[in-house]
Amino acid sequence: MTLKVCVLASGSRGNCIYIATATSRILIDAGISGRETIRRLNLLGVSVEEIDAILVGHEHIDHTRGLPALTGRHGLPVYLNRATADAAAGQLSKARSIKIFTNGQSWEIGDLTILPFSVFHDAQDPVGFVVRKGSYIITVVTDLGMPTRLVKERLKGARLVILEANHDPDLLMNGKRPWSLKQRIKSSQGHLSNAAAAALLAEETGNFLTDVFLAHISRDCNRPEYARQVVMKRLRKAGKGGVRVRLTYQDRISEVVEVNDEPFSDSKIRDVVPLARQLGLNF
Ligand SMILES: [Zn+2]
Ligand SMILES: [Zn+2]
Repeated sequence: MTLKVCVLASGSRGNCIYIATATSRILIDAGISGRETIRRLNLLGVSVEEIDAILVGHEHIDHTRGLPALTGRHGLPVYLNRATADAAAGQLSKARSIKIFTNGQSWEIGDLTILPFSVFHDAQDPVGFVVRKGSYIITVVTDLGMPTRLVKERLKGARLVILEANHDPDLLMNGKRPWSLKQRIKSSQGHLSNAAAAALLAEETGNFLTDVFLAHISRDCNRPEYARQVVMKRLRKAGKGGVRVRLTYQDRISEVVEVNDEPFSDSKIRDVVPLARQLGLNF
C-alpha cells in the first residue's frame, strides 16, 4: 500500500476526508465533532495523534466543526489560507499551530505534496486541494457552484477524484426548502448538481482516472444511488466505464481505497503535463 483514502463523513452536516501514506496522514476538513472524528479514525486503526495535519477548504461549519477539539486539546496543526483563518477565528481560538498557505502554491507534508486551488463558493476564499504522492494525484473539490477553468485543469491528471454531486435539480426545486436556500444551492457559488458533476468527470478528467468518490450528497434533494447511476452512465458514454464510482455518507465512513503510485505509462503522460508542471513532477 502506498496510499489510503477514506471519506470519514460527507454532507451538509459535516465533511472529513482521510488520506494517508505509510508515513504521512492528513485530514481534509474537520466538519464532524472531534469525538466523532476520532471514533471514525479508530475504525481505520488510526489514532488521532497519528494525524500530521488538517487542511481546511473554507470556513463553513460543516468543514470546521471539529477544529476546536482537534487543534486545541489534541494539538493537530491546521492549514488554511488567511481569509479562511480570519473567517474561522472562532473555531481556531484554541489552536496550537495555525499554518497559513497561499492558493496556488504547493508545499509538503511528509511525502505528500499539497496544492490548494480557488473554487467558486459562497465563502471568504474557498479552495479545493490536489494531493500528490509520487505520480499518484488526488483531486478534492467538494463545494463549488460552477466549475472554472482552474478546476478543470486540476482534474486533468487525477487518478482519484473526490467531487461533490450535491443535488438533483427536480428534487431541489420541488422540495420543501425556502426559495432563498434553493437559489443559493443552485447559484454559481452554491453546489454542483449530479449532472454537472457527471459532465465534469466525463469531459475534464484524463485517462488516468480510476476512482471517484461522490461527496456532499444532499439528504433532501438527492438520492445517493441515483447520483451514482447518473455519473456512471455519463462516464460510460465517454468511454470511462471502468472508473469505480463510490458513494460517501454522512453517518458512516466510506469504503477505503488503497492504491499504489506506479508511474504513468508514456501514452498517458500528455494528459497530465499542465498539472504536473504546477506540482513539480518530472517526466
Ligand atoms: Zn460550504
Ligand atoms: Zn460544505
